[in-house]
Amino acid sequence: MSGTPVVRIEALHKSFGPLKVLKGIDLEIGQGEVVGIIGPSGSGKSTLLRTVNRLEEPTSGRIFVHGEEITRPDTDIDKVRGKVGMVFQSFNLFPHMSVVENVAVALRKIRKLPREQADAIARRRLDEVGLLAKAEARPAGLSGGQQQRVAIARALAMEPELMLFDEATSALDPELVKGVLTIMSGLAEGGMTMMVVTHEMGFAREVCDRVVFMDAGQVVEQGPPAQIFGSPSSPRLRDFLAQVL
Ligand code: ADP
Ligand code: MG
Repeated sequence: MSGTPVVRIEALHKSFGPLKVLKGIDLEIGQGEVVGIIGPSGSGKSTLLRTVNRLEEPTSGRIFVHGEEITRPDTDIDKVRGKVGMVFQSFNLFPHMSVVENVAVALRKIRKLPREQADAIARRRLDEVGLLAKAEARPAGLSGGQQQRVAIARALAMEPELMLFDEATSALDPELVKGVLTIMSGLAEGGMTMMVVTHEMGFAREVCDRVVFMDAGQVVEQGPPAQIFGSPSSPRLRDFLAQVL
């Protein structure tokens, strides 16, 4: 990998009480790389992503974004969240705000931009996800797929250096999945660095540069999609693929 990685995860451990959820994760993600994270339910995928966005504190280990440690106790968490955008399975939009306000609010509150400037950026981002026409609507008036596209626009509005997706399409009706995956593919093609936890094996195979298989809090195997799906070497990955493919 050339240059400073966008993300470097070093010996990351996370426990909830006696439960060891992450058991020594080491991972580097290069500029523009799209890394798919697959693995059984409960293997620690969400916890891994959440620590990269500082939604969880590591028990031990360190995480760097562009060489800057974000796991120090004195880290400015708002600054981390500005650099690292996250999209969740549940869209987490503010129900009482319009779509454009949802996208603009962090620009005003965290970036301290004046309303007009924040709204202009928000509208540009909504246009990119095909939802400018819905700017004044409330989230409840949108389909799940549209709400998720708003959530993506909201994350992009902060101009993140890295985007985290945690099963972004898992809560969607089947016919709405494709629109969200198309937006994610477009971001990947545009050079965004991405960590994508997904059950969409087609996406992992076709869009990801690298696929990481996690099981029981560890990275068991990783490699290019052709290798992970075509010639998995560990029995645990083979079992997992036999169940999902
Ligand atoms: P995955 O996303 O791969 O399904 P998670 O990271 O959500 O896995 O969870 C891994 C394990 O950690 C599970 O056993 C889950 O119940 C546990 N866990 C996750 N978050 C918490 C929490 N806040 N408190 C206690 N246990 C948790
Ligand atoms: Mg999860």
